[in-house]
Amino acid sequence: MMKADLQKAFHKQINEELYSAYLYAAMVNFFESKNLPGFATWMRAQTIEELIHAEKLISYLHERGADVKLDAIAKPTSTWKSPLAAFEAAYKHECHISKCIDNLYARATKAGDNAAAIFLNWFVNEQVEEEASADEIVQQLKLAQDAPGALFMLDREMGARKPAMPAAEGE
Ligand code: MG
Repeated sequence: MMKADLQKAFHKQINEELYSAYLYAAMVNFFESKNLPGFATWMRAQTIEELIHAEKLISYLHERGADVKLDAIAKPTSTWKSPLAAFEAAYKHECHISKCIDNLYARATKAGDNAAAIFLNWFVNEQVEEEASADEIVQQLKLAQDAPGALFMLDREMGARKPAMPAAEGE
């Protein structure tokens, strides 16, 4: 059985992932309003992936026979001064999530819950990717600032992203 305070720490992380989905959903709206459909598609995929992260944590708690408590989700910011500012906020947010995952991992280890720590390995690795992909777009948007037309090319490229769906059982 998972220790009660570790369960609570998982509940907090579920909330963090759902808030992430909410924040990125707000960014979808922002990019749609700026007539950047490719950026909106990218953020829509990000939103779906965050919901999957939350679901992964919820399913794991059920598997462990633990309680699942869902808290209120905070209201996200809804506007940014530029596409670059939005992606800088996304990058900063992912750095925050990485810290949350590191703390959760440390708690699992401290509780001697090896199963939970091993489960969280996936999230530790995922955060490396999350930070890298947001930072890459920040850097590209910085380059695009001095090149008219580059934003539209980038928008077209970003529109190709599809959410990474979890593999079906047995695959
Ligand atoms: Mg996440």
